[in-house]
Amino acid sequence: MTKRVVLLGPPGSGKGTQAVGLAKALGVPAISTGAIFRDNLSRGTKLGKTAGSYMAAGQLVPDEVTNAMVADRLAQPDAADGFILDGYPRNLEQVVELDAMLAERGLEIDLALDLALDHVLVVARLLNRAQIEGRADDTEPVIRERLAVYRRSTEPISGAYAARGKLVSVDGDGTIEDVALRLHAACVPAT
Ligand code: ADP
Repeated sequence: MTKRVVLLGPPGSGKGTQAVGLAKALGVPAISTGAIFRDNLSRGTKLGKTAGSYMAAGQLVPDEVTNAMVADRLAQPDAADGFILDGYPRNLEQVVELDAMLAERGLEIDLALDLALDHVLVVARLLNRAQIEGRADDTEPVIRERLAVYRRSTEPISGAYAARGKLVSVDGDGTIEDVALRLHAACVPAT
């Protein structure tokens, strides 16, 4: 069964929610770079202070910071048998870095799931979430910047996984349960 998974898709596509559900179903940890950064920010760590200004502007935290953090996290024992990565990789350099981290242990990504959602829906969802959760980067100008960064840097990485025959696109429109079923089906192909 597929166990080393990256979850791709625009901000607001539901990656965070779905990563947690899918991880539970597969018995592996969900690793969200955004959540790790936010946790560090709220605890006032050095990492949080470095990442905070980039996050507030909707820009990517520098690769050397993010890559080191992910390498540390993937080296934890709970990630030895698999993981769902949410929010990483986010550009082609991070794809190369992730491959190198895994190759050191003779491993590779099994599957890239692309949660597809129209950008108009994405903005509406994020603005709605802003009212509920009050996340500092869910204001309209920052949302627009995050989407621009997504189009420019993140969208192209699906091509890298497609070229390896590892990309599956999943419709992100629907209830949480509908989308969860689609993602699960992509990880556990019918025999
Ligand atoms: P969303 O996908 O909704 O924009 P995330 O929680 O995934 O939110 O990320 C929030 C912020 O954390 C990003 O805008 C960025 O500043 C930072 N971040 C998260 N993952 C990465 C990454 N892989 N590389 C660089 N920065 C990242």
